[in-house]
Amino acid sequence: MNPSLSVVWLKRDLRWSDHAPLAQAVALGEPVVGILLHEPSLWSQPVYSSRHARFEAESVDDLVATRPELGPNRVPFPVFYVGSEAVEAFEALRAAADLPLRRIFSHEEVGIDVSFDRDRRMKRWCAERGVAWVESPYGSVRRGLRRRTDWNAHWNEVMFREPLAEPEWSRGTAWVPTPAWTEWAEKHKVPRPEREAGVAQTGGPTWGHRYLRSFLEGGRGRGYMAHISKPESARTHCSRLSPYLAWGNLSLKQVVRALSTTQGSKILPARDARAFASRLRWREHFVQKFESESRMEFEHINRGYDHQEFSQNSAHLDAWKTGNTGVPMVDACMRSLNATGYLNFRMRAMLVSYGCHVLNLHWKDLSAHLAQQFLDFEPGIHYPQLQMQAAVTGVNTVRVYNPVKQAEEQDPQGEFLAQWIPELAALPMPFRAAPWTLTELDGVAFGFARGTDYPEPLVDLKKALSEARIRLYGAKKRPEVRAEKARILETHVAPGRRFS
Ligand SMILES: Cc1cc2nc3c(=O)[nH]c(=O)nc-3n(C[C@H](O)[C@H](O)[C@H](O)COP(=O)(O)OP(=O)(O)OC[C@H]3O[C@@H](n4cnc5c(N)ncnc54)[C@H](O)[C@@H]3O)c2cc1C
Repeated sequence: MNPSLSVVWLKRDLRWSDHAPLAQAVALGEPVVGILLHEPSLWSQPVYSSRHARFEAESVDDLVATRPELGPNRVPFPVFYVGSEAVEAFEALRAAADLPLRRIFSHEEVGIDVSFDRDRRMKRWCAERGVAWVESPYGSVRRGLRRRTDWNAHWNEVMFREPLAEPEWSRGTAWVPTPAWTEWAEKHKVPRPEREAGVAQTGGPTWGHRYLRSFLEGGRGRGYMAHISKPESARTHCSRLSPYLAWGNLSLKQVVRALSTTQGSKILPARDARAFASRLRWREHFVQKFESESRMEFEHINRGYDHQEFSQNSAHLDAWKTGNTGVPMVDACMRSLNATGYLNFRMRAMLVSYGCHVLNLHWKDLSAHLAQQFLDFEPGIHYPQLQMQAAVTGVNTVRVYNPVKQAEEQDPQGEFLAQWIPELAALPMPFRAAPWTLTELDGVAFGFARGTDYPEPLVDLKKALSEARIRLYGAKKRPEVRAEKARILETHVAPGRRFS
């Protein structure tokens, strides 16, 4: 058979190692090229931001700087980063290539509706053009899974026993791009967003592996559980691997294996290692849930909540987004997230709890803002977590966080509050966490004017928290919510497992 061209379509799997599509394409020994598309239809979605685009571009820089060499002549792997819709890019490559394009290799993408739609268009295009599109599973996630019957066994098999998919570079052949393709790619160069000063994490596998090593071997993970809920120290003591996993700079299997090899070394205490291991598993549990029921992007997973009424107060929503609700812990968390792209799990949950429970806003109104700000935006975690914290699953324990209590417990000295809300720095705790409790006289003593130096709360917090609890526990008992609960448990929970 005459030689043909194979393409590795990179899709949020921006690494060279443990990469099944790369391994498969390279093993063929036929000319191969890698393409990462920056698709306008996807990037114009409100969940994406220039913060993500920057991380993607940095990941590409890292891939280019560390290109593996193919074949006996050690030719660097050709890789292109182009701003184009998928069908247009593959059509352009097909027209410009000097060989027939016969195969595309990629991972199955657990994406949003727009990317599922694009995949459907690409499937049609491949069928019409006689191109075989070979997709590999995303970790242990299974496409079209309807029951979790053997989910745990499958996870163990994939994570602990399946070999890492390491390409044999010496067997591969690099495609020599034609001038026509190089010119097309040059014309479709992806603009590079500016780096935001507050966003500390740089994209790319090199950085991903550094974070992994410093967490597992460098002592950073010591005290993981003690710090996990504290907004400031979680920044150091949590792994901070989420953007590297979300953009595929690291595979989950690589992280699971690295944890297994370091377990027993005592650098990461056993309790912390166990807690970390559970979260790696949760990650895939959530992604599988979204893969199996991706309508969660737009609808309540539990249809029993479909007639629930939500507030449409856009002033409240704006205050929540900008960190001006008048509740210090909520505002400090939002301001720090907006500036840095990171927030620990507990405080993410508290932001959703405040928006959905105290202000009674719809989770859909909170969704895009949070997704844009989280450097680690991962649709497979974002939507299921958002709905879980918004208490519209009917399955999970209802958690209504009191932000004042959270401040007292997770930031007892008020340092995090003072850092992100300097206008409150002159107030001692506990006033810093609840400035509305200051009397006028106290305010004068501290040189602080309520409502002028910092906003008064949007709503009466105590009353709103109590009303939210009544509303949410009441809703959970409704027959239509309970009926859906049974369906959700059957679909998304392994038999015999309890759900909290
Ligand atoms: C409303 C909301 C939205 C979220 N959206 C995202 C998202 O878009 N992307 C994302 O990666 N995480 C998301 N999370 C989960 C969690 O907050 C982050 O994974 C975690 O804070 C990232 O920090 P880390 O890497 O230091 O985590 P670590 O605590 O070090 O955990 C290691 C890894 O385990 C996974 N993980 C940890 N906690 C969870 C969890 N509760 N659920 C699922 N996976 C978990 C992540 O991949 C994480 O990188 C969300 C949580 C909430 C409440």
